[in-house]
Amino acid sequence: MKTLALALFTPFILFSSFGNGTNSSFISKKTMSDTYLRLIPTKPDFIPDKPHQDNGKAFLNSIFKNTKIEFEETTDIEFVDPGANFETVSCNYCGRIIDNEFWQEAIDKAYEKHFQVLTFITPCCHKTTSLNALRYQWPAGFAKFSISVSNPAGDISANELSELEKILGTNIGKIWAHY
Ligand SMILES: [Zn+2]
Repeated sequence: MKTLALALFTPFILFSSFGNGTNSSFISKKTMSDTYLRLIPTKPDFIPDKPHQDNGKAFLNSIFKNTKIEFEETTDIEFVDPGANFETVSCNYCGRIIDNEFWQEAIDKAYEKHFQVLTFITPCCHKTTSLNALRYQWPAGFAKFSISVSNPAGDISANELSELEKILGTNIGKIWAHY
């Protein structure tokens, strides 16, 4: 089971290797680590339709100029992790930190079912919740659709985020990943 954690975290590392992107200034600093702003629907299986995605792309390109922005869709729901920013997982009811091994076991089990069932019984206060509702420090989430902004010069503002939510027709979670 130990290898699965690695398997979960590996695809993004592969995905993040730059080939011939337009942001060559970042490539020349390749020895440095990379930061990604990842935006995902709060509902894990939600995928915006194509015209809305196109509008979202145009909108994000106007905010993050000369920045690599990728829209990704996967067949199964995936865990979108914050990479090196991953610290703790806490209960969304009582706030207590959930033992990492306990959480990892639940993740492994859910992964076997392609994250279609995210139900989780909290070990601290024995409540039924979702793996997607737990508090991740830094934030993480589950999604089939994700947007990834590579090494953005700045953050997306609250206003811009709510505009993007309107364009894509979904609430959006923000994940800062570091690799
Ligand atoms: Zn609890």
